[in-house]
Amino acid sequence: MEETRENRFDPQELIRPHVRRLRPYAPGEQPTEPGVIKLNTNENPYPPSPLVLEATRRAVDGRLRLYPSPGADRLRRLLADLYGCSPENLIVGNGSDELLGLACRAFVAPRAAGDGRRRSEATVQFFTPSYSLYPVLADIHNAWQNPVPLELDFSLPPVEKLERERKWDFAAALTYITTPNAPSGRGYSVEELEELCRRQRGVVILDEAYAEFAEQNALSLALRHPHVIVSRTFSKAYCLCFQRVGYFIGSPELIGALHKIRDSYNVNGLGQAAAEATLADLAYYRENFRRIQRTREETARALRAEGFQAFPSQTNFLFARPPGAPANVWQEALRSRRILVRWFDQPRVRDFLRITVGSEEEMARFVEAVVALRRELA
Ligand SMILES: *Cc1c(COP(=O)(O)O)cnc(C)c1O
Repeated sequence: MEETRENRFDPQELIRPHVRRLRPYAPGEQPTEPGVIKLNTNENPYPPSPLVLEATRRAVDGRLRLYPSPGADRLRRLLADLYGCSPENLIVGNGSDELLGLACRAFVAPRAAGDGRRRSEATVQFFTPSYSLYPVLADIHNAWQNPVPLELDFSLPPVEKLERERKWDFAAALTYITTPNAPSGRGYSVEELEELCRRQRGVVILDEAYAEFAEQNALSLALRHPHVIVSRTFSKAYCLCFQRVGYFIGSPELIGALHKIRDSYNVNGLGQAAAEATLADLAYYRENFRRIQRTREETARALRAEGFQAFPSQTNFLFARPPGAPANVWQEALRSRRILVRWFDQPRVRDFLRITVGSEEEMARFVEAVVALRRELA
């Protein structure tokens, strides 16, 4: 067909410059062909509880024509009961990713035209390496970024060191901390997180997407410190990535600000129904966490026996440096055996693979492939 558009001006000119320049977040691959062992996006290998499947099916009827609860009220009440707080301490989002983005809009000033220097009130701060969405959210908001490296073993730098080196901004408008961290899998103690939070004058979000797989969590900090928010999600631990439900816990003031700016119906009705049913069967999920922790430790031992350097993990994935060949060569070799793992082409992590803990059977086949490939590659 012939081009009929009248090209009087370049549509690119209509896009704000910082959006034109934006490099969007790169999600892990979602293959469509069957038979792939998918260890690349930290999904739970097991299905949701039968109660959740049944509640979701039951919700699929004529009510689909109605709007869902605008504030996910029943779900917030159930979560408030679970954590011994008030529904006013809670906001539910279309995945926690939505809420992480709303936080930029509520708490961070965009960069002003002609800003030559980074200003704290327009700064989004985070450690590196951590969740690669944070810099993208800062860019979308046209805020400054302050990425600060973790220690070489991916532990948190002590507060005195952050003070001494003067790279960390204790007044940054918004600080994201992934805990336990991704992609390293490392856990941080509540004490060290609290020490840092006490010093911080802006909002701190503790992103606990993997907390259920860890030995401890920092939820108490969100209920004790009015500038601290804990982010949780039903995606990974509760097998509901497909439904997109996450939530923040924090002071009524900060949470109230986020409610003001969210979409009226930001969480779809089937997602709300599935999340509510999840909370009625927590025993099922606790067993699931223990099973994944066991498989994680077994897989880590098997990888170390094959010459991998595997960090201790507090999550549902392992971060491991393969022997012999570069990590991306290993990734491609695994892919040719229909096993997907994640590799990040970024400083300090490009020697590693991030391997989601799948089912026992999937991990047995993964280890088999590793043993075979080691002979070829290392
Ligand atoms: C997966 C993940 C999220 C996003 O979870 P959703 O609730 O599915 O949006 C947030 N933070 C981290 C660190 C994650 O790994």
